[in-house]
Amino acid sequence: MTELAGSWRAARPQPAGIHLDSAACSRQSFAVIDAVAQHARHEAELGGYVAAAAAEPVLAAGRTAIAALTGRAGEDVVFTTGSTHALDLLLGSWPGRRTLACAPGEYGPNLAVMAANGFEVHALPVDTLGRVIVEQAREMLTADPPALVHLTGVGSHRGVAQPLHELVHGCRGLGIPVVLDAAQAFGQIDCAVGADAVYSSSRKWMAGPRGVGFLAVAPELAGRLIRRLPPPDWDVAVGVLESFEHHEANVAARLGFSLAVGEYVAAGPAAVRARLAELGTAARIAVDGVAGWRVVEPVDEPTAITTLVPPDHVDPVAVREWLTGERGIVTTVALPARAPFELSGPVLRISPHVDATEADLEMFVAALADGTAAALSDRQV
Ligand SMILES: *Cc1c(COP(=O)(O)O)cnc(C)c1O
Repeated sequence: MTELAGSWRAARPQPAGIHLDSAACSRQSFAVIDAVAQHARHEAELGGYVAAAAAEPVLAAGRTAIAALTGRAGEDVVFTTGSTHALDLLLGSWPGRRTLACAPGEYGPNLAVMAANGFEVHALPVDTLGRVIVEQAREMLTADPPALVHLTGVGSHRGVAQPLHELVHGCRGLGIPVVLDAAQAFGQIDCAVGADAVYSSSRKWMAGPRGVGFLAVAPELAGRLIRRLPPPDWDVAVGVLESFEHHEANVAARLGFSLAVGEYVAAGPAAVRARLAELGTAARIAVDGVAGWRVVEPVDEPTAITTLVPPDHVDPVAVREWLTGERGIVTTVALPARAPFELSGPVLRISPHVDATEADLEMFVAALADGTAAALSDRQV
């Protein structure tokens, strides 16, 4: 085991089985778990509002660390309850025309938030993997510029990384703001790419608590947004970012998230990303073709997500249940609703964090073969 893998593993509880599900929810460290519990204790000892005020320096450090990883300043960052909430806050305050362009593989719940906020959505040109074709996108955006471009840095239904640097650069040249969904990208690939707004979740690759996330907005864009609550014509001195603050927040979760980001930074973003990419490659090589399952991503895609298309007559939902129930292996099934314009059937996803071992992958491969056989024989009964 590498030093990074060893220290990451030693910092958290033993997994009950094999955890290959960090794209859904990573394993928190002892320090994060303790900080969250400790804050609940402080609330009982000091009072909830006094405890929140006392926690402010740690929360500020969390915002600063998030800012560093997204290329912003601490003041540009607000905590949210997660990624979906962040996008809803941003789009709900969007000024002027409500049109956007995004990849056809856009995350389904994001499409719902876009629609609920009255956005007309146009598809960017992509290749067969769903990766935006930069030159064609530039032509399309030049001919008919939308009010914003929304990029999901790494997909949830497939571990493909978008060419963020090139796309942001191109949009900047055209004066089109870019909003980056970094729910999967944050921690896996570089997110300090100059996007005008970036948002993500705590529980995925940052390994923080559930129910918390962030939204970072560049001051130029923040200055154009229109406060929704309280209504903009109310004469109160509340800035837009301030209006995004959810006052009845789970401060303990924000504290845990702040600590988790600190741990990530201490582990070394470049080292973590390199290890995740290496694991992605190892997993794809180990798993492709096993019992007829087919890997979607190119072998060397720089992410730790491996998505598997099932063989004929095998239901990934049944296999996932078998893996959890019989072998204690945690994975995810992505149904078409997750990317309704790209995903045509359910797929099985594995997403190891840096502490996964070769033995974990070998056990997964054996279990996948057994689980597939079990699903096929159930079907014949
Ligand atoms: C998980 C995910 C989201 C939603 O995040 P929440 O914190 O659950 O709201 C958005 N986009 C992508 C790509 C995701 O993977």
